[in-house]
Amino acid sequence: KREIHIVGNWKMNQTLHEISEFFIQMTAMKMELKCKAWIAPQSLHIPILKEIAFTTGAIQVGAQNCSYADSGAFTGEISPAALADIGVEFVIIGHSERRTIFKEDNEILNQKVLAALKHNLKVIYCVGETLEERESNTTFKVIEEQLAVGLKNVPADKAHLLLIAYEPVWAIGTGKVATAEQAEEVHAFIRGKLTQNAEQTIILYGGSVKPDNIDSLLRKENIDGALVGGASLKAKDFKQLCTSA
Ligand code: 13P
Repeated sequence: KREIHIVGNWKMNQTLHEISEFFIQMTAMKMELKCKAWIAPQSLHIPILKEIAFTTGAIQVGAQNCSYADSGAFTGEISPAALADIGVEFVIIGHSERRTIFKEDNEILNQKVLAALKHNLKVIYCVGETLEERESNTTFKVIEEQLAVGLKNVPADKAHLLLIAYEPVWAIGTGKVATAEQAEEVHAFIRGKLTQNAEQTIILYGGSVKPDNIDSLLRKENIDGALVGGASLKAKDFKQLCTSA
């Protein structure tokens, strides 16, 4: 059976003070992890979290984005080579906020996926439909395209590094969680479309996941964990998510 992964996406949040409070509380709660607990902070906080993770041993640390290039004249970008160099374990690619706010399309995301895999970073590749797409019954078509183009040419010997996150855009930060049945339907579809390593691939659900709705999601056959925004910022909620798994 696939191992449950709970991944906190901190987005553009948390001050140094809040980060130290978060880990002080986590340590005080003596968490007994029943799953993999990963956190993706803002890039400039990665070394700080690495340091904490090194001493507590409890979490793995990742980035929220990376460039398709290793180095060069790309002001403001984050190099996947540099991420690998400082020991980052994973990178989130294709989050809906990257797709909509920063206009990243499936082609660019494919280049980013390949660049990250080249450095043996684990990749959480995000897919998901907007409300408009769901209402016009194009959910499966949109996701099929996101998978087909975004994961083009993934080498067979890197496929084990890939995770997928299904995040319906209408459920992100809105409090509207997809029902476990709605999510499972899409997760099963995604698994069916994977051409490599399908049975072993971790498929996360994301969108308003909270301690009070995680259980019903994780009971589903094809839901292997969660990508969590808001609820991952509070140590109490994050710990609860990681221990309910
Ligand atoms: P929320 O959990 O705040 O809805 O965010 C979901 C998300 O976008 C995680 O990547």
